Order: sequence, then C-alpha cells, then structure tokens
Amino acid sequence: MSGPLAPGATIGIVGGGQLGRMLAAAAARLGYRTIVLEPQPDCPAAQLANRQVVAAYDDPAALAELADGAAAVTYEFENVPVAAARRLAERVPVFPPPAALEAAQDRLAEKRFLNAAGVATAPYEAVDDAAGLAAALARLGGSGVLKTRRLGYDGKGQRVLDRPAPEALAEAFAALGGVPLILEGLVRFEREVSVIAARGRDGAVAAYDLAENVHRGGILHSSTVPAAVSDRTAQAARQAARAILEALDYVGVIGVEFFVLADGSLLANEIAPRVHNSGHWTEAACVVSQFEQHIRAVAGLPLGAPGRHSDCVMENLIGDDVARAPSLLAEADLALTLYGKAEARPGRKMGHVTRLTGRVRL
Ligand code: AMP
Repeated sequence: MSGPLAPGATIGIVGGGQLGRMLAAAAARLGYRTIVLEPQPDCPAAQLANRQVVAAYDDPAALAELADGAAAVTYEFENVPVAAARRLAERVPVFPPPAALEAAQDRLAEKRFLNAAGVATAPYEAVDDAAGLAAALARLGGSGVLKTRRLGYDGKGQRVLDRPAPEALAEAFAALGGVPLILEGLVRFEREVSVIAARGRDGAVAAYDLAENVHRGGILHSSTVPAAVSDRTAQAARQAARAILEALDYVGVIGVEFFVLADGSLLANEIAPRVHNSGHWTEAACVVSQFEQHIRAVAGLPLGAPGRHSDCVMENLIGDDVARAPSLLAEADLALTLYGKAEARPGRKMGHVTRLTGRVRL
C-alpha cells in the first residue's frame, strides 16, 4: 500500500460495537466511508457506518465482500478469528497486523510475547489440570489469579486465589477448568494505569498521557488523567508501549494496561490491539482522539500530536447508569457519548462521560 488512502476511500471494520461506532465517526470526519462486518443487525457501529455486512466474522463470502469493498481493513475487538484476519490480509491491507491478534488472544502467548519484547509481567504458569494448579500455586508463593487463557474480558473467566483452602482451589478449577488456564502471580499493586499509543505506517510512534484506571466488578469504571505516577513511571510505560509496537511492526492504536507497584515499577497486564475504553478521554481532552489517531494510522496519514489540553476523568455509564444522561448534560465541561444501544442490561456499557477538570498548557 503506497501513499495515504484517497479521500472518500472505504475502510472496513470487523466488529460492530461502540469502538467500531466511534471509529466510523472518526473516519467520516476525515472524509472516509466505512463498512462494518458484524452479525448483529443495527449494531452500534452500523448506525454510523455507510454499510453493514450482516454475517459471522469468519464467513468466507462476507470476508470477500469486505475485502472487495474496502481499501484497508481494521478491527475493533481482539477476538476476531486470526484465520479470518489472515484471509482478509491476502486481499487487502489489514491493520493492525493479524500477528497482534495472535499475541493478544491467548494470555499465555501474550505474556511470552511481552517478556520477549523486554516488558515485565507478573510471574505466570500454564495450568492444564487440578494437580498442575496446586503445583503452580505453590511455585507462585501460595497466591495467584487463575484465568482462562482465551476469551476472558472485563474480569470474566477469572478467580483470585489468595492463600486458598484446598476446597476453594478445587472449586476454582471446577468453575474454570476444561479449557486451558493460566495462573498469574497475585500482584499487590498500588494502582492500575494504561497507555494508549499509536504507530503510523511510517513507523512514527505517538503515546497519550497515562490514565489511572479503577475497575469495579472487573469492568472499567473510571479513567483519570493524569495518573498519579512519577515521570519516570510514565516514561517507562510509554517506552514499553513503543517496544510492543515495534516488536509487532504494528500500525494503529494499541492499549497497554499495567499494574504500578509501590516502588513505581510496572508490570504489564494486558495488551488490546485496538482502541481502548481507557482512551475514551482523548475525545474530550486532546485535539486528536484515539479514534482519529487509529484512522490516521490505518489510512497512512501522519499521526496527530498526543498532548492533552485538559485534565479529565472519564466514567463509563454501565447498565441503568445511562438513565442519568439527561441530568449529566446539565453539567458544564462535560462531554457525553452514548452508544445507541436500545436495551440497558446490567454490566452493559451504554456510554461514557468525560469531565474536564483543569486546563493544561500545550
Ligand atoms: P484482566 O481481565 O486481566 O484485565 O483483569 C481484570 C482486573 O483484575 C484487572 O484490571 C485487575 O484489577 C485484576 N487483576 C487481573 N490480574 C491480576 C493479577 N495478576 N494480580 C492482581 N490483580 C489482577
């Protein structure tokens, strides 16, 4: 692919959730059209895209239609089948590279990849059976977090084992076992932060300021910027993100989540090869949001400067929280985004608000 996508060109997006919706909006602002591949009709992204292909993510005919209709393809969730992404990549440029999906879809492969890239993680052990779990727990000092290797998100598919009794250990294995598992060391972190970074087709890297994230029930509740960490910690997070982007020869936006320990050192927890919930604040507090940054990268345009013009706090609206939307709009210095989801089920991300809390000189 040489030169940036021409104005009016079409970008394909695999996945039709809110991240795809915000990518479609950013693409439209830059003069691009979008096609979304998503089995759910009238999904949040399709409401803003130019066209939806309603089919499974691995449907060969749908993938061919997407490849034929788009000048470049991206995705908005990390569980896109790798084979489907590779099939697309035979016919059309796919960004980020499918190898990034492979690294992110399996927690064991992810940790090995991170360590090989020079990025520290919690210690970990692969777990395949109940006896293996007991042995792994002993090697990790008697405590850990047991997780499914694949398809876990928002805290689903995991159990904290803090010096568990034998029955609790057996119960955790019974609840999660049957699929490959990983046991991670239980990290006594001081705070959780993330960095949203981007790499362009020319290899340029831009990283936003760190967000400090609070999770409730395994789901992101809020992101506060700036994070209460030292410059050294912030610099280390940005450096780790750069190493990850370069190791993957990545193009697009990535989210990297870290635990911050008492001494300010970092352990990477997870990478998300896509725009990320903890980067939604960039829409309200930066000139170029993570969504525009991703579209710029995919389209081969120069990346935007990632500096923020305001401090801010982003809060997710989950389930019935969305009923607060009209009263929230009465607040000054607040940006509200709703995702166009009709039904407010418990735990479902319905929208988010970002409150600007102070100006920053750029
Ligand atoms: P994850 O699905 O890996 O992002 O985990 C969801 C949340 O569980 C994280 O944001 C942490 O708050 C917590 N958590 C996950 N892994 C660990 C760990 N190894 N040690 C301590 N807390 C963890």
